[in-house]
Amino acid sequence: MKGVKKTGPLSDSTEMVREGTFKYVNISSIEKNKAKPSLLLHSCCGPCSTAVIERLYPDYDITVFFYNPNITDEKEYIRRKKTQMDFIKRYNDDPTIPCKVGFREGPYDVSAFYRVAEAFAGEPEGGRRCQQCFALRLEKTAETAKILGFDMFATTLSISPHKDYDAISHIGKRTALMYKVGFLDKDFKKNNGYARSIELSKIYGLYRQDHCGCEYSKKKER
Ligand code: SF4
Repeated sequence: MKGVKKTGPLSDSTEMVREGTFKYVNISSIEKNKAKPSLLLHSCCGPCSTAVIERLYPDYDITVFFYNPNITDEKEYIRRKKTQMDFIKRYNDDPTIPCKVGFREGPYDVSAFYRVAEAFAGEPEGGRRCQQCFALRLEKTAETAKILGFDMFATTLSISPHKDYDAISHIGKRTALMYKVGFLDKDFKKNNGYARSIELSKIYGLYRQDHCGCEYSKKKER
């Protein structure tokens, strides 16, 4: 993108971007005006969201955005969405946890996934098909965050050891520029994030799927 300037990191691993008239969002300036910045958190599934929410809720006002048209089997999609909603309800109902997490569902349109991914059907997991899939989901998240007035967006995708953090980070920052909304760029697998998500999933008795989501990932043993 022409004329794009990137800022350096602003605070810990949070990075914002700016272009033209879009001014980057300084987190400390938000904090002066609000209790917490509002965050639209794209979630791929309930189990991955557990440790991410636990890590972020002290600092962000979180709404989970379940936008996953890559889950090509509708029954599986419904099961994962229910798992996500059940987890949020139980988390919100826990009197020892001082946070209320919101939930929104994006459109479940599998054809949107096939439009971007079908050409790369034969690629191994982690290849170009997955990059298209990340971009589809992050762009819808950023667009929704912008329309609804969230301060920033993020994704749980980086908690998985099967997902390429550098690709997610690059796509997230590019998408932030496209939609002019902040991107919370974090590698959630750091500091035992993935292990913690498994632990929390067991504590909450969550369904953990055995494949990433699309029909192509189902064909392969993981
Ligand atoms: S393997 Fe996962 S990330 Fe890759 S295209 Fe399929 S659903 Fe998307």
